[in-house]
Amino acid sequence: MTKPVKTLCPYCGVGCGLEVLPPALPGKPVNRDSAGTPIWRVRGDQAHPSSKGQVCVKGATVTGALDKDRLRYPMMRDSLDQPFRQVTWEAALQRVVRELKTVHANQGPDAICMYGSGQFQTEDYYIAQKLLKGCLGTNNFDANSRLCMSSAVAGYIQSFGSDGPPACYDDLEQTDCAFLIGTNTAECHPIVFNRLLKHHKKNRHVKMIVVDPRRTKTAEKADLHLAIKPGTDINLLNGIAHLLMRWGKFDSLFIDECTSGFASFAGVISQYPPELVARACGIRVDELEKAARYWSESQRVLSLWSMGINQSSEGTAKCRTIINLHLMTGTIGKPGCGPFSLTGQPNAMGGREAGGLAHILPGYRVVKNPQHRQEVEQAWQRPPGSISSQPGLAAWDMILGLENQSVGVFWVAATNPAVSMPDIKRTKAALLKSRFTICQDAYYPTEMADYAHVLLPAAQWGEKTGIMTNSERVVNYCPAFREPVGEARADWEIFAEVGRRLGFEKEFAFANSAEVYAEFVQLTRDRICDMSGLSHDLLKNGPIQWPFPACAVGDTIDATATGKRLYTNHRFPTEDGRAKFSAFHAKGLAEAPDPNYPFVLTTGRLYGHWHTQSRTGRIEKVAGMYPNPFVEIHPRDAARIGIQEGEVLEVRSRRGFARVPTKITKAIAPGTVFIPMHWGALWAKHAEVNALTHPEVCPISLEPELKACAVQLIPT
Ligand code: SF4
Repeated sequence: MTKPVKTLCPYCGVGCGLEVLPPALPGKPVNRDSAGTPIWRVRGDQAHPSSKGQVCVKGATVTGALDKDRLRYPMMRDSLDQPFRQVTWEAALQRVVRELKTVHANQGPDAICMYGSGQFQTEDYYIAQKLLKGCLGTNNFDANSRLCMSSAVAGYIQSFGSDGPPACYDDLEQTDCAFLIGTNTAECHPIVFNRLLKHHKKNRHVKMIVVDPRRTKTAEKADLHLAIKPGTDINLLNGIAHLLMRWGKFDSLFIDECTSGFASFAGVISQYPPELVARACGIRVDELEKAARYWSESQRVLSLWSMGINQSSEGTAKCRTIINLHLMTGTIGKPGCGPFSLTGQPNAMGGREAGGLAHILPGYRVVKNPQHRQEVEQAWQRPPGSISSQPGLAAWDMILGLENQSVGVFWVAATNPAVSMPDIKRTKAALLKSRFTICQDAYYPTEMADYAHVLLPAAQWGEKTGIMTNSERVVNYCPAFREPVGEARADWEIFAEVGRRLGFEKEFAFANSAEVYAEFVQLTRDRICDMSGLSHDLLKNGPIQWPFPACAVGDTIDATATGKRLYTNHRFPTEDGRAKFSAFHAKGLAEAPDPNYPFVLTTGRLYGHWHTQSRTGRIEKVAGMYPNPFVEIHPRDAARIGIQEGEVLEVRSRRGFARVPTKITKAIAPGTVFIPMHWGALWAKHAEVNALTHPEVCPISLEPELKACAVQLIPT
């Protein structure tokens, strides 16, 4: 192979195009890492519409982990206190099927759970939905996206009548004002930030507002940084709306013709005068006024957000309150504006399309809607009533199910809940109680493997062919460019094989992932995410943005221009075609600081590292950038408790503790400390940030408030 293979970066939801080449090329020295191991070459794909050739350090080094610490063969053990033994696929699958049948017969379908991942390709997601929801009769499929963007999903559905980010990346270069709230875009979505920064630098009139309790690398570039107190986002958003209302800076035509619920919203925001809001948020009135002025003076405001908004016990309310501002100002469905949630993982968007959460079904359908269930049952040729009318267990509820032993089989694939779940001590105790856990992963060891009875080796990115959708709805073909290591198999193939062995031969009679995808896209027909015109063959020619209905095939128009923005006609998929205002008051943190736990801990990510480090921790260059965890603390707080730079600080919450070296910086506000979320037990002792976090969830999206909890600080 001498021609580069085009694919998508398998890390964040920005979804940059990559070109991959083998380590050995004619006339060139073999590409090796510092240990001498040959590694695949990788570079940005200049032709990719989302990234235009740019990549960050993660994308540029991703091939460095392809061969490190891979799980190569199935392994098994009878109980968690025994060592694993290598077994054949036949033995592993027989056991998996036996356990599924036993639990299904004895405890019922809802005792079976699968916890999947935004790292899945769309085909993996789709087959998992068909197996769990269509054939086994339980909606207990949830993904780690529940910890990431389920609040955004709920916000879109409630405000617009459907999931789906309305904006696209071109809006980054067409906006007058970028409003970044609860997102450290510079570190977590670097290529999106590069595009925005370039536009901001080139156009002096363009404003950038960043709302974040920390002075992050993103905040450093802002015209206005609002370092609000953690948990006061709704105060701020309602306060901006209050000023826009007071100044008469709203779009009454848009409000009248395209929305509903404005009167109750107006009633709520009337209670957020600037003085009250500034005090609650810990900012000055003139800073608040400046933010509102930037909004009012801009024709095109683009809001970006991620975990700082979503990971909250009022996450859906926060998302809807952002959307309120866009509805009020009519800044949606037009170039350069709109609410835009930045997705965390490479294919969390594909997961949403394929129904990959416990309350949804393929094609942006919802479990609770009888017509939606019927449509999917018919497509799957399953008897009426096969799909349960009850949403399945969301991520944290699965842990509770293990705790009270109502869950009999816990199947975890491509994710690491033994690090990423809140209240990790309680999570691990629940995992230890599991009757039968399957861990399907590309890497070994991982923290999750310690809690598994069976390990199934999964092929990873580059070893299986499938589809991924990035944050701006651009759908990408990601081909296998090398053989899977050892006996690893694609996730969808494992699910399909289990399905056939359970007696569903016809439902899982797929010869390849192209056939899986062809079946899936039919379920999107006439839905807002219509991609019934897409196929592996078409996508081999390059990425395409949805919507892309079957009637678009063969058009001479630029394929990437068919999607772009949603709601350009200002009609929304609600019953009356209008977008809905919401009227939420601020509730604040689920666990506010108090005299015993006087500091707020906030958590986040670092440029370079990815989630729980299963991949990036094994890449020399990335691991070297941040070799150790740390806690950021303001100099005033450090002096008050008597701790010096580099000394180990014990951070303690009601649930546990972490001991990490101190980093003294004015980038964090007094009264708040910050610990990155990447370090699990495999990488550092007593540095797990989730030893501290609590499992309170947003009552609508069921997303946990991983972003903040109350802590005390004890110098060691
Ligand atoms: Fe990959 Fe995200 Fe970096 Fe792009 S910005 S190269 S998608 S990690």
